[in-house]
Amino acid sequence: MHKRWIRRRLPVLIFTFFIILYVDFQLRTNSLPKVSVAHHPSPGAQHHSTQQTPSPARNTQNPANNSRSGNRGHQAMEDSHVTRPKLKLEDIFIAVKTTGRFHKTRLALLLETWISRTRAHTFIFTDTEDEDFRSQGHNMVVTGCQSDHSQQALSCKMSAEYDGFMASDKRWFCHVDDDNYVNPEALLSLLSAFPQDSDIYVGKPSLDKPITAHELLEGNATREVRFWFATGGAGFCLSRRLAEKMAPWASGSRFEQTSAKIRLPDDCTVGFIVEKRLSISMVHCPLFHSHLENLLLISHRSIPHQVTLSYGMFENKMNSIEVKGSFSKEEDPSRFKTVHCILYPFTSWCP
Ligand code: UDP
Ligand code: MN
Repeated sequence: MHKRWIRRRLPVLIFTFFIILYVDFQLRTNSLPKVSVAHHPSPGAQHHSTQQTPSPARNTQNPANNSRSGNRGHQAMEDSHVTRPKLKLEDIFIAVKTTGRFHKTRLALLLETWISRTRAHTFIFTDTEDEDFRSQGHNMVVTGCQSDHSQQALSCKMSAEYDGFMASDKRWFCHVDDDNYVNPEALLSLLSAFPQDSDIYVGKPSLDKPITAHELLEGNATREVRFWFATGGAGFCLSRRLAEKMAPWASGSRFEQTSAKIRLPDDCTVGFIVEKRLSISMVHCPLFHSHLENLLLISHRSIPHQVTLSYGMFENKMNSIEVKGSFSKEEDPSRFKTVHCILYPFTSWCP
């Protein structure tokens, strides 16, 4: 009786056992890859703790074009997981624009502070040779550009910066002025959050709406064009893939020609090429700062998360960030030394 019961139930038991084995195997194999991708941050995810949350997600001015690049970005993100090593600070080409008369007054302060942490991949674009700085091991690029503040002179330097980056093996191009403080770690974490092989132009506009330009056409005709641009005085970055696509309007003498065509300065020219020639939208990011905005509005707490800072005179008063530390406002009017000592307290000259 007992034997007959076992003989009848045995196939059912064996079948159930194999079902359990099969389900277990399926669960194990499906969950493994999910665990490994779940740790990659989505763009912007690293900054949700800051007061001013940046949104490196593309803005929605041009949905058609956004969805296109969105798909490319997704593909690129998957590819980058497979082939691209993690972004390092040395992969970022930082171009600083300056001029001879600002070497001692502005540039020296940057060399002493943030550039001391990024020297190998920071390139100083100027118009005057400086043996002192060169002998200290800084990458000085003496352009043949004029030394004034004219549209042509500034576009000439931006053109040299672009060509310098294109000739390098770096993955990102970032431009700053000589009155900008760059926080290297904040810059790295911002750029790391983007899909690494996609078309990114990130910075902060100085206007609250797109600029209107009059593009010169053949036969002296003009065409009205509107586009966003990242203000050069706050700094901005371009991914290599996008910089390569800009070459027909930006490489060699072409950058200055494009700038002349819209009769606007260098930073506007970058925006024009990216948004109007390539139909790619700029990413608006609140972590870049120029002295055209009220710098007192940046909270003390958020300073370590800001990518760039600036300082300058506004209506005869110094516009700079408010930060307390070991240097008085007389000793450190830009507040760059104070910020540097907060970020890197073990610097030899920090009290
Ligand atoms: N600059 C230059 N030549 C000049 C004046 C300025 O190359 O004759 C550079 C300067 O070094 C800085 C940028 O242009 O990197 C912006 O200059 P500034 O901060 O004086 O003026 P802003 O445009 O910010 O008012
Ligand atoms: Mn300035």
